[in-house]
Amino acid sequence: MNTENKRHIALISVHGDPAIEIGKEEAGGQNVYVRHVGESLAQLGWQVDMFTRRVNAEQDKIVNHHPNCRTIRLEAGSTEFVPRDHIFGHLPEFVDNFLEFQQENGITYPLVHTNYWLSGWVGRQLQEMQGSKQVHTYHSLGVVKYNTTKKRPAIANTRLAIEKQVLEKAETVVATSPQEKEHMRSLVSGKGKIDVIPCGTNIQLFGGVDKQSARAKLGIDPQTKVVLYVGRFDPRKGIETLVRAVGKSGLRQSQNIRLIIGGGSRPGHSDGNERERIEQIVTELGMGEMTQFTGRLSHEVLPIYYTAADVCVVPSHYEPFGLVAIEAMASGTPVVASDVGGLQFTVINQETGLLAPPQDADAFAVAIDRILSDSQWCDRLGVAARKRVESKFSWDGVAAQLSKLYTQILQPAAKEAVLLV
Ligand code: UDP
Repeated sequence: MNTENKRHIALISVHGDPAIEIGKEEAGGQNVYVRHVGESLAQLGWQVDMFTRRVNAEQDKIVNHHPNCRTIRLEAGSTEFVPRDHIFGHLPEFVDNFLEFQQENGITYPLVHTNYWLSGWVGRQLQEMQGSKQVHTYHSLGVVKYNTTKKRPAIANTRLAIEKQVLEKAETVVATSPQEKEHMRSLVSGKGKIDVIPCGTNIQLFGGVDKQSARAKLGIDPQTKVVLYVGRFDPRKGIETLVRAVGKSGLRQSQNIRLIIGGGSRPGHSDGNERERIEQIVTELGMGEMTQFTGRLSHEVLPIYYTAADVCVVPSHYEPFGLVAIEAMASGTPVVASDVGGLQFTVINQETGLLAPPQDADAFAVAIDRILSDSQWCDRLGVAARKRVESKFSWDGVAAQLSKLYTQILQPAAKEAVLLV
């Protein structure tokens, strides 16, 4: 696309600020996704504005990432962190401020790509008020999530109704795995268009360091077996399953293990309770010495951790996609993951890692042990994992698919020509 054709599009991610530090509070995969998709689309010539909610009076209102890509923070409710289940009531103000921004800047976005159900609602309003075409990515489906949790929040029914409406009314919904598409069809609605375009990762960054120097940087000797978790502290992430698996006596006796748990804030933040709970389990199981809690890891140091690890474990109860799995795989590290959702798409059982039933510490212990006990097989899994990510999950490839989709939506007549590019 040349710059004369450059089109303004809006990525909306109300609760997931693409410009914020990842790994703290509720910041995770969605923030990473929006930021990378935005920047990659800008490189393809789109003029990308990414809208989010301002959570702190000291935050800049606009952050420029690239000449064609910026984050715009709008006020909606008080300027403080609000957990995602309590944001819905502030959305009308978000929409008003979005419209005001458009007016002040002389822009009407012809296409809005919304992320998570909260932004999905915003997109629906823009679709109705000004005819913006809506593309939506769920990042998490309420109906699947609530099936795996005991407590339903008060907002649950509103969320489910909006998720159904968005699927039926948006121009298209982007499922990030065939499994997510299947969930949408069987559990949300039989109506509406769905395209499958996966999430991606930076294959230059992840995999750009060799294992020996990664271990040297972290001061880990070559004999130690490193089991790694990276991600938010949220009960649905299943960190407890991993800790209990590594705590199994058979595994501990047969291997000299270091368990590294990356991510999370200190107590006092929204994810602090889960971190305290996990730390307690570690202490109860007498695993304090072998376990390291690193806190938040930036994307500058994360490649070192992934590469230094012998196995990365993603023990989620439910995972719509799971960026951590492909980041580890891109780093040449096999993954042991729960046999759920997007992980069934990214991790090929016995080829790039192993899948185990969620919340089954015994099965995770067996899977981790199998990989740690056979270093040649571990290496082969790692090589295949890297190849899989290179061929399917690079951001550039993902952005190219999204770009094609937007172009088709905006210029149906040009469909043929675009397909030839
Ligand atoms: N992450 C990070 N630092 C941390 C913990 C997590 O940068 O300390 C990043 C991680 O690299 C990944 C994202 O947060 O890109 C988590 O995405 P995923 O899809 O695995 O989980 P989600 O947070 O969406 O549930």
